[in-house]
Amino acid sequence: MRIKTITICGGGNAAHAMIPIIRDHFSGQLNFFLPFRDEANHFQKLIDGKKTLTATIGEKEIYGRPDKVSKFAKDVCKEADLILMPLPAFAHEQTLLKIVPFLKEEAIIGAIPARSGFEYAALKILKDSKKEKVKIFGMQTLPWACRIKEYAVSVNILGKKKSVGMAAFPHKITPELASFLSRVLDLKIEPLPNMLTLTLANVGQIIHPGIMYGLFKEKEKVFYKKETIPLFYQGVTKEIAEILEAMSGEILRLTEKIKALHKNVNLDHVLGLQEWLIYSYEDSIADKSTLQNCFVTNSAYQGLRAPVKKDDDYFLPDFQARYLTEDVPYGLVVTKAIAQLAKIDMPIIDEVILTVSKWMQKEYLIGEYLKGKNIKETRIPQNYGINCIEEIMRY
Ligand code: NAD
Repeated sequence: MRIKTITICGGGNAAHAMIPIIRDHFSGQLNFFLPFRDEANHFQKLIDGKKTLTATIGEKEIYGRPDKVSKFAKDVCKEADLILMPLPAFAHEQTLLKIVPFLKEEAIIGAIPARSGFEYAALKILKDSKKEKVKIFGMQTLPWACRIKEYAVSVNILGKKKSVGMAAFPHKITPELASFLSRVLDLKIEPLPNMLTLTLANVGQIIHPGIMYGLFKEKEKVFYKKETIPLFYQGVTKEIAEILEAMSGEILRLTEKIKALHKNVNLDHVLGLQEWLIYSYEDSIADKSTLQNCFVTNSAYQGLRAPVKKDDDYFLPDFQARYLTEDVPYGLVVTKAIAQLAKIDMPIIDEVILTVSKWMQKEYLIGEYLKGKNIKETRIPQNYGINCIEEIMRY
């Protein structure tokens, strides 16, 4: 695997964090693709003035800038051996469509994080453009919590994960790519056996819509004062934990059914929610005895509040927050669609989708069926012509 040019797409928090980190560990060409609004011009002007972008990680500062910035894929993607998309899931397809005409045959393109069903959209776009040799990958989460301090100038990297899972297609490139990404992203990237693992082990799809449902069901119109906005993770009650446990149980039942259908498919990395929390936050959870305690005694989750929007002097729950707009159409609905292909019922997940999608002013399900008027906006495999569980397991 010879990677001489890397292109990073998008100008958000994650892309800002990646520039100095990659620059610090990679001596090849680093390009920046900014198709969104006027970001390319804006970024170029600011970086020309300041010269470098600074990332602050604890006490440490690292610096870097891209070699080339453009709004146009033909300027910055043609030479790219590796294209990284640290973007919200709803931007993946639009970005891929702009890049695909210029992709080299041997290029590798990936989403960080993948969320669910990335492979269905990416492989369809590549096939339609006759670029089937291009390889894809997805990472399970973003390796850092990060926030732009000043656009094109500085970014705060608040937390770094111990390791992050990564799956690629074709599978044979995974080990070598994982080792390259570990080096340039400066953390352990753990190879996963298939992309289906990314979809089923996407715990954000349980935690975010599940807690929103638990916190706000029948409290949709409650106004909060600043100090009474519910804590998100620490607000998990015994009842909310039971909902999360039931959602996780439904996904595990689906996983077991797929394993039973095909003995060769490796889904060992799909864990129950409590097991995943203990694995991921081993040192920061004080009491691991119950799922509820794993949330409320996790110091990494301390003080984080539910997403709200301001309404005069009060706050209302924000149902257009990423916790729903990413994790439902690019998460929970995808898993529900796979369950339908595997003939597994998901009554609790159905109830969560039905309730939160009304809040989002979307309709994905009618009863238990994927027949809502907004279902085409989701990343379910059926939207890409995939209608059997066997095909899903190939990726
Ligand atoms: P962000 O909101 O900062 O990203 C916004 C950028 O995405 C924009 O500047 C633009 O460049 C691009 N974009 C947005 N809409 C677009 C569109 N319609 N078309 C093309 N480009 C578009 O997001 P982020 O914080 O960098 O997060 C990226 C991903 O990582 C998301 O999936 C997020 O949920 C996940 N994540 C982020 C954090 C974090 O701490 N920032 C933590 C965990 C997971």
